[in-house]
Amino acid sequence: MSDIPMPASPRAQRLLIVGAVAAGTSVGAKARRNDEEMEIVIYERDRDISYSGCGLPYFIGGTVPDADDLHPRDPAWFAKRYNIDIRTGHEVISADPAGRTLQVRDLSSGEVTTDRYDSLVLATGATSIIPPVPGVDLPGVFALRSVRDAEAIKGWLDDASPKQVVVVGSGFIGLEVAEQLVTSGIGVTLVERLPQVMPALDADMAFRVQEELERHGVTVRLNTSMAGLQGDTRVCGVRLDTGELIAAELVILAVGVRPNTDLARDLGVTIGETGAIAVDPSMRTNVEGVFAVGDCAESYSVITGRPLWRPLGSTANKMGRIAGDQITGGTTLEHRGILGTGIVRVFELAVGHTGLTETQARAEGFDPVVLHNTKPAHATYLGGKELTIKAVADRASGRLLGAQAVGPQGVDKRIDVLATAITFGATVADLFHLDLAYSPPFATTKDPVHYTGMALETAVRGRAPLISPTDLDERLARGEWIQIVDVRAAKDYAKGHLPGAVNIPLADLRRRVGELDPQVPTVTYCNKGVTGNAAQNVLLALGLAEVMNLSGGNSTYQTHTRQLQRATSLPSTIKPSHLPHVLFLCVHNAGKSQMAGALMRHLYGDRIVVTTAGTGPDDASARIVAELGASTAGEHPKAVTAAMLDAADRIILIGPDVQLNPPEPLADRVERWPIHDPADDGIEGDERTRNIRDQIANRVHALATELTS
Ligand SMILES: Cc1cc2nc3c(=O)[nH]c(=O)nc-3n(C[C@H](O)[C@H](O)[C@H](O)COP(=O)(O)OP(=O)(O)OC[C@H]3O[C@@H](n4cnc5c(N)ncnc54)[C@H](O)[C@@H]3O)c2cc1C
Repeated sequence: MSDIPMPASPRAQRLLIVGAVAAGTSVGAKARRNDEEMEIVIYERDRDISYSGCGLPYFIGGTVPDADDLHPRDPAWFAKRYNIDIRTGHEVISADPAGRTLQVRDLSSGEVTTDRYDSLVLATGATSIIPPVPGVDLPGVFALRSVRDAEAIKGWLDDASPKQVVVVGSGFIGLEVAEQLVTSGIGVTLVERLPQVMPALDADMAFRVQEELERHGVTVRLNTSMAGLQGDTRVCGVRLDTGELIAAELVILAVGVRPNTDLARDLGVTIGETGAIAVDPSMRTNVEGVFAVGDCAESYSVITGRPLWRPLGSTANKMGRIAGDQITGGTTLEHRGILGTGIVRVFELAVGHTGLTETQARAEGFDPVVLHNTKPAHATYLGGKELTIKAVADRASGRLLGAQAVGPQGVDKRIDVLATAITFGATVADLFHLDLAYSPPFATTKDPVHYTGMALETAVRGRAPLISPTDLDERLARGEWIQIVDVRAAKDYAKGHLPGAVNIPLADLRRRVGELDPQVPTVTYCNKGVTGNAAQNVLLALGLAEVMNLSGGNSTYQTHTRQLQRATSLPSTIKPSHLPHVLFLCVHNAGKSQMAGALMRHLYGDRIVVTTAGTGPDDASARIVAELGASTAGEHPKAVTAAMLDAADRIILIGPDVQLNPPEPLADRVERWPIHDPADDGIEGDERTRNIRDQIANRVHALATELTS
């Protein structure tokens, strides 16, 4: 007699589901709500079902004391509530699409049986990626995907009491685990292959997350991969690709997941370009009667319409409900794509994102307009703290493409409002008109979402263009002449300002506009952006040709500068004494050497040690000048000293009259940059300065490339 089950009634359809966590159980529950007669069986190879994978880091950290809190429902509950038969410890090992049957192994007895289906749903989820490096099987090395994984990690924490943990990978899971372990008093090193944490964000926003991690004692190691694990009977360290060994008595691998598609391939189901199962909006695969949902299934982008795979619980539940409805005769509930919206808590910050980042928008061929907007989450007199929203819009259509938000309050609400707006195709102009709830404990009269729309709208329409810190740096680095106007009070300017900025407070701007060249591109800035925009409007009204407001003002620029300095800083294994040391030296005065030095420092951070000086009138300088064979000693207080000459690997003499003939041993360290003085061609004033700066900028780039390559 065949072991294939016969239908309970002639009309009853048989629905088999593989996988019983988020997506699979959603399919079953929806199908049962629609169809009381359908036979519904879910096979699950693991022990646990319907659990919150998203809560696992909080169980590890002890915030959730009992793993049972993460999976309150068991097969008996599903049987009673939904008349669904969930068989745990049963693995589906193969499938026959022609006969519509599955081969199922009972993992406790080893017995293999055959089951038949009218509809089959693959809800097989995803598996943690385990990097194939030596030592990865050592005790004390874990990935985190299931309740069992979390229990094993918790057991290790209790038994081995590790003091040092390495978390490999800085996506959502790596960040959550790092936060929870640090909160439990354990030292954490976070190792990330990319140059930034949290790859779902743009690097500038991710840097804010990095600073928060470091502020709480996490050691962040970027641009480096795990090459292997060290230990005899248990892990004791992680070997990086730099050769460095980081001590660790526990290692958590959080380098990503891959979709479980073996069964789908067995069935002849098409795998999409993302590597997950290709489905249509009804969650059907290309094989008759076979559906796929959750982490194993591919989605598509609401913005571009292109395939997109973001394995998230939120999407898994939605897909499950859609498939359950379709299988039971529904026709209207269809998948409408995703934005990849996500949120994570990192110590005191909430970090959310939706839609395209600036980088992704460019890669998709958009011409993005970018705004950094820092505003209080609600009235400051009721304790409102600032959050920063980075929003990205399409210049051509004005459509909002994406947003990232970081802050201690109000991030979830803004990201969800913006995600809703993007879903319904809102333009940036639409944001201002949203009728959002306001009361001082919850928002500000104009919400950060409104401000985002207002500033982006004027930028998109070209009335008040924005420039991001990165774009400003790039234009300066290309040698472009841009006048930068700091419109804050003199005391704020004195505390710190953009390199090369002049200080004209907003109140003085109309009176002092003559100090600016109306034909030169101009950037205005204040602390966060609002006063910078007011100054921008004044200057445009007074006839300046091109005026841009610095996105996010000085505050965002300073974050950007810290990021740049961190990105350009050398690994800690390289001592400052090993850094190339350049002395820029002007004959007569230090103006050009300061120009070169400032540019070098600005662009290359602490990768190159820079000193600037001129040849001065004092005895020491006179001696050096004589040693160098210089024909003349100029007069400038920043005179070169013997120590400066000794320390420098390269001595760059800048100026029109570098008639120096240095003796050995200086000769091989001295290089001449003869700068042509445009005054010789009758070019004076700003244009002369601009011309000289361009000559210097080109040489600085060439030198830095040589020194850092
Ligand atoms: C630590 C962690 C934190 C997370 N945080 C968030 C978050 O904050 N927000 C969010 O939206 N998402 C989060 N996620 C992701 C979320 O948990 C997943 O998207 C969700 O679990 C996917 O559900 P699923 O049912 O598609 O797949 P899975 O949860 O992977 O379940 C698939 C099941 O199928 C079973 N299976 C596979 N093949 C077979 C077979 N041949 N036979 C029988 N059974 C089989 C597997 O054993 C597995 O139990 C997190 C995940 C983790 C691990």
